[in-house]
Amino acid sequence: MVGKLKVFNTLTRQKEEFHPINPPFVGMYVCGPTVYSNVHLGNIRTFLSFDVINRYLRHIGYNVRYVRNITDVGHLTETGEDKISKKAKLNQLEPMEIVQTYSNDFHNVMSLFNTIPPDIEPSAIGHLMEQIAMIRKLIEDGYAYESNGSVYFDVSKYNKKHKYGALSGRNMEDLMSETRELDGSDDKRNPLDFALWKKAAPDHIMQWKTEWSDGFPGWHLECSAMSTKYLGEEFDIHGGGMDLKFPHHECEIAQNVGTYGKGGAHYGLHTNMLTVNGQKMSKSLGNSFLLHELVSGDHELLNRGYSPMTVRFFMLQSHYASTLDLSNEALKAARKGYVRLANGMRLMEKMEWKEDEGTLNEQQIHQINIFCENCYHAMNDDFNTALTIGHLFNIVKKINSLHNGQLKFAEIDQNTFNKMKDTFLRFSKDVLGLKVERNVNYQSLVETILGEYKDAKYNRDFERVNKLRAELKAEGIVIKDMKDRFEWVFEE
Ligand code: AMP
Ligand code: ZN
Repeated sequence: MVGKLKVFNTLTRQKEEFHPINPPFVGMYVCGPTVYSNVHLGNIRTFLSFDVINRYLRHIGYNVRYVRNITDVGHLTETGEDKISKKAKLNQLEPMEIVQTYSNDFHNVMSLFNTIPPDIEPSAIGHLMEQIAMIRKLIEDGYAYESNGSVYFDVSKYNKKHKYGALSGRNMEDLMSETRELDGSDDKRNPLDFALWKKAAPDHIMQWKTEWSDGFPGWHLECSAMSTKYLGEEFDIHGGGMDLKFPHHECEIAQNVGTYGKGGAHYGLHTNMLTVNGQKMSKSLGNSFLLHELVSGDHELLNRGYSPMTVRFFMLQSHYASTLDLSNEALKAARKGYVRLANGMRLMEKMEWKEDEGTLNEQQIHQINIFCENCYHAMNDDFNTALTIGHLFNIVKKINSLHNGQLKFAEIDQNTFNKMKDTFLRFSKDVLGLKVERNVNYQSLVETILGEYKDAKYNRDFERVNKLRAELKAEGIVIKDMKDRFEWVFEE
């Protein structure tokens, strides 16, 4: 049972049935990180949401090409400096060292959260030629102009033919009144015009020669160039956090329409913000959580550490388009929920159908079928992971009942059992991307068994002694009987 997938399309502001351009192929582009600092939990929320979207699309049979970029040039600070150049200068490093360090961190963190890597992860610097080609075309078609070595997108000109601001629901007058001044640059004709190419100051580390100047590309351009290169002038999904709607995605659409006459993606998906005490988590506000702070609990707002799977579960407990507030209480509750589900996963993985005493119970069979179908209904409803988890919990109750014998296998037929097992494991592992974390301390486990071994020896229960010795040996651990104590070593 699959049913129809509906998504909330931020381009039309409506929930719509999802129809890819060229099924079963789905092209999805998600704006990736600017690699000048460690990713914080807010960034992770957005990337986790798209991980689940990618996973579910695949689960229901789409062949997804997931492209997520790395911004390694062009993203400016409030004072107009390139973020990576600035950090490189501060630390006396090559910009590429900064890029490598934080790309590595990003990949490590994403892998600890069990996310599937994108199929293509292009970087802005690796696509300068494509960006320069787009600028040339935009100038040729009259949508961009050169001014003192920089090139700007001409928003008012574009707006005469098209609608600038449609995605974020603003018109030019609103935007003009919101924009207080020219952001430190007198080169623009209109404060809303945005840079496609920036002339670099002589001491700016990253710069490239073009007919306009020695400079670097504007941030918005990279995503237009790379999404269309890998997914075509029209593609299915474009995603990112809500905060990227304006100006980043608005500018991308204008660049795409200006260059190709088409706006790029058919569906916009935007995730909502992770907040702390109601305030958006962001590095500049100083309220961000890094992975190591979360795992160790070494943060003023935490009174213990939480594992990546607990945090993944915590994030999936809300819909991606709602805000989510991080707190110690919320994480504590998520830990309980995650453990309940993980115990269900552990039991279900081992559980096999068996013949036992009992008669078919149509009501039980019906309930289990409904729970399974509900998982699809929930995910089909704009990827509602929160509801999906609720349905999985209902299945966990059935798993526990089967395990403790309250529910007999004979009451549900083998097909229903298989369907329940398959649906439960696929949704929790493949779709939600959860896994059972093995944070069991093997040292203390071996010590416990060694204690039993000691008791058995003392009681001269040699059958048990041999059994424990053999069981540990099978795990590659050898017990050594010393004169006055027992020790263990790994078998060589
Ligand atoms: P950045 O590296 O700042 O461009 O951010 C990378 C991604 O993280 C973007 O899609 C942002 O929208 C997203 N993001 C940043 N802060 C948050 C937050 N507090 N909650 C959710 N997503 C966020
Ligand atoms: Zn982007």
